[in-house]
Amino acid sequence: MEITAPCPAWCRLRADDHGADVLADRYHFGEEHLVELSRHNPEKQFDDRVLPGELQVILEQAPYIRTSQVTIINEDRGGTYGRMSLPEARRLRRALGKLIAMGEECATPDALPTLDAVLADMRAKVAEDSNLDSQSSGYALGDAGAEGWAWLCVSADLAPDLREETVRNLLVDVFEKRCKAL
Ligand SMILES: [Zn+2]
Repeated sequence: MEITAPCPAWCRLRADDHGADVLADRYHFGEEHLVELSRHNPEKQFDDRVLPGELQVILEQAPYIRTSQVTIINEDRGGTYGRMSLPEARRLRRALGKLIAMGEECATPDALPTLDAVLADMRAKVAEDSNLDSQSSGYALGDAGAEGWAWLCVSADLAPDLREETVRNLLVDVFEKRCKAL
């Protein structure tokens, strides 16, 4: 099959001409943006590095469809979260804008229970992992359902404020896993 349609201007594979006249090889890929997810439990790699979860947000277009789409992918959670037409992506942008504005306006940091009280209530303990640098968002381990204890592993080099924030973020993941296990 001869494919004569040119790549869209944003296609990263443009220069290579995709190298083929096979329809499946003419999938157009644009710029990719990565958003690190500090509230997801990061993956421990085979070489012991701990990498944060992330969302990939990309522009792409199938060769048999007229308009491009925005695709959101999270490899840790099984791949594609959503494929959106451009008007749908615009609606998502509007919804995110509203939620962010609301969240920022109505934050209640003074009403939080103390970290020690939360840790005791959620049966979690904090441990330091010397393999982690201060940029790491840490990871949670050993949470065996509703009766188990969770270990929240963080860098030893964190300033107290950042350490507390990191631990609180890790608790979100523990909480989510326990809800799923019920
Ligand atoms: Zn292309």
